[in-house]
Amino acid sequence: MNISFIGLGNMGLPMALNLVKEGFSVSGFDLSPTQLSTFAASGGRACSSVGDAIEGAEVVISMLPASKHVEELYLGVDGLLAKMPSKALLIDCSTIAPQSSRRVADLAAAKGFEMIDAPVSGGTGGAQTGTLTFMVGGTDAALERARPYLEAMGKNIFHAGAVGAGQTVKVCNNMLLGILMIGTSEALRLGMANGMQPKVLSEVMAKSSGRNWVLDVYNPCPGTMENVPSSRNYAGGFGVDLMLKDLGLAVENGLSVGASTPLGSLARNLYDIHSKAGNGNQDFSSIFNLLAKHVSGDV
Ligand code: NAD
Repeated sequence: MNISFIGLGNMGLPMALNLVKEGFSVSGFDLSPTQLSTFAASGGRACSSVGDAIEGAEVVISMLPASKHVEELYLGVDGLLAKMPSKALLIDCSTIAPQSSRRVADLAAAKGFEMIDAPVSGGTGGAQTGTLTFMVGGTDAALERARPYLEAMGKNIFHAGAVGAGQTVKVCNNMLLGILMIGTSEALRLGMANGMQPKVLSEVMAKSSGRNWVLDVYNPCPGTMENVPSSRNYAGGFGVDLMLKDLGLAVENGLSVGASTPLGSLARNLYDIHSKAGNGNQDFSSIFNLLAKHVSGDV
């Protein structure tokens, strides 16, 4: 089975390599030459253009930053819907606006393509170990077609509903995650300002009612946990700007359907300030630094 993988970034590269490990023939394309050469060095077929990557592909998987990149890839003048035979299965794993996902899938369906939205949760760690959670929007038939590829990259596959539903679940989850990261950072900072050791405080809260995913596997305070972005100067992981994008999607979606998102809006503003201070490419757990205690004389 020939798979074309577009977008070999922090998530896409390890996901594509897991497909290679499972024996699929994977042709990949990314705008970054560095990502392409890492892909080639690990057994993938690196291509110099989207057109080259989709040549003879039976399945296309995209893992791109945001709605505009996905719309351009599928709907652009030279986009996939115009260039590929409609028997190809289309799987978009990017996190994008639900309405954008539906727009692309509806136009794909009008041309005879089956398409699902399959955004993921589990971070770069989950992408590397092949244990991602997929939240799928689309028909039963399209999901069953996609299942062997999703199973090569993930552990949990949830059918959320019709096209776009995967994105809705993802947006809700990430709004909660963004809020939890700030809340956890705030609690840690409060304890530390009182002289607590963050590791001890984290261990106690992780066994108490404040327990959450951030305390369990993604502690934002350097020195509390190994192999997380905070232990490597917030490099890799899930970027501040990507979290900012997801919170924007949540707030926008809330406005469009009349749902209140007061904490989501506040979280979006805090990540925005953090990004504008020059931290957009750091992992989102670096929001911990925005909440640093002022040393006396600082304010
Ligand atoms: P990333 O910025 O590391 O990777 C995106 C890649 O897409 C980059 O390598 C970029 O060069 C490439 N790209 C952009 N436009 C392109 C184009 N037109 N053609 C080909 N390649 C193009 O981002 P990421 O962390 O891999 O995230 C990708 C998606 O997954 C985002 O929608 C993000 O919200 C979502 N996501 C990320 C995480 C995470 O922990 N990083 C977790 C879950 C979901």
